[in-house]
Amino acid sequence: MPKKSHVNGALAVKVSARGAGRLRDGHVWVYRSDVLAADEVAAGALVKVVDERGAFLGTAFYSSTSQIAIRIISKEAVEDLARLLCERIRASLAYRERVVTDSNAYRLIFSEADFLPGLIGDRYNDLLSFQVLTQAMDAEPVRATFVSELKDTLSPAAIVERVEPKIRQLEQLPARGSALVMGEKSSTIFSMNGVQFHYEALEGQKTGAFLDQRENYAAAAQYARGEALDVFCYQGGFALHLAQCSKVTGVDSSRPALEVAERNAGLNGREIEWIEANAFDLLRDYSDEGRKFDTIILDPPAFARNKRNVATALRAYKELNLRALRMLRSGGILVTCSCSYHVSPSDFLETVLAAAHDSHRNLRLLENRAQAKDHPMLLTVPETAYLKCLILNVTY
Ligand code: SAH
Repeated sequence: MPKKSHVNGALAVKVSARGAGRLRDGHVWVYRSDVLAADEVAAGALVKVVDERGAFLGTAFYSSTSQIAIRIISKEAVEDLARLLCERIRASLAYRERVVTDSNAYRLIFSEADFLPGLIGDRYNDLLSFQVLTQAMDAEPVRATFVSELKDTLSPAAIVERVEPKIRQLEQLPARGSALVMGEKSSTIFSMNGVQFHYEALEGQKTGAFLDQRENYAAAAQYARGEALDVFCYQGGFALHLAQCSKVTGVDSSRPALEVAERNAGLNGREIEWIEANAFDLLRDYSDEGRKFDTIILDPPAFARNKRNVATALRAYKELNLRALRMLRSGGILVTCSCSYHVSPSDFLETVLAAAHDSHRNLRLLENRAQAKDHPMLLTVPETAYLKCLILNVTY
């Protein structure tokens, strides 16, 4: 039996029944263990995907190194890849025009969720940044195509490529640094929900908001009151939104992040106390000292990077939420987040419930939220839904 086959003259990758089933269910990935034949397919090639019998399943980008060997870009045959990419980019922009309000910073392109697998694009006012995650998106003429389409449709002052060295290593792509690919400007000020933030794409530490929390910032602001503690505050995303609180304290272990947070506070004429500390230690000390707050935000980094870490991650979430609940006054507000895809919404809710039980607090669920709509969630690709944000009211 031939190891590779041709369909309509283009290279085809043959996938197992399990891989084919996954695609027929609407997912867009096939793992390497489900690829039966792709021997002569070049890294980053556009390929046709077929099942064991040779039936066509879609057109995909191929990675020679990633565990995700196949990422479908279309269920149809693709005659003109450049045209398809441009159409996809224009559709992504049109979608943001429908769902983003009161912000000139948002995610423009969210990889699989925008049918542009391997490409992330963000807008920060007049600057655009992009990141490529796969061999196919890094290859010419694909790069030149999306850069020129972004330039033509949005007329930014500059476009910056942001590089995550680890991702390039995994895809075995040549190392390169973050750099301007168009224009000369690399810093700007953007606004969301009426709050202003500094953005510096290249100098020192990358700055910018966690755009996926944009709608949660506005929701938190609606309920926050009294004395507030923003734990894992980074550059002040939540803290800067809590204008109606009598006192706001932000905690983070990163000094550079807090320096930008302080500049952001100045930009908005706000006084916020920033504390450089390990959040676990600080929460333990504060709760042991009997400190009290009216609003606590918990937005830790992803604790579970893979399935194996879930149990440890849940213990960490429980500890944080337990400490926070002990410090909240009756009537207080807890905004608690998890950005680990591997921690499911129900696992997270149960963990918060366990913390409520151990702290003898009753909680009202005010809002059960997820990521902002500029980070679309595809029902058929569960990995696109990762952020959980619960807003709770401590009753008594
Ligand atoms: N809430 C922020 C985003 C938080 S990202 C926003 O909306 O902008 C997670 C943050 O946790 C990072 O800024 C990181 O520096 C910080 N961090 C990670 N581990 C920490 C720890 N043990 N103690 C305190 N901060 C920590």
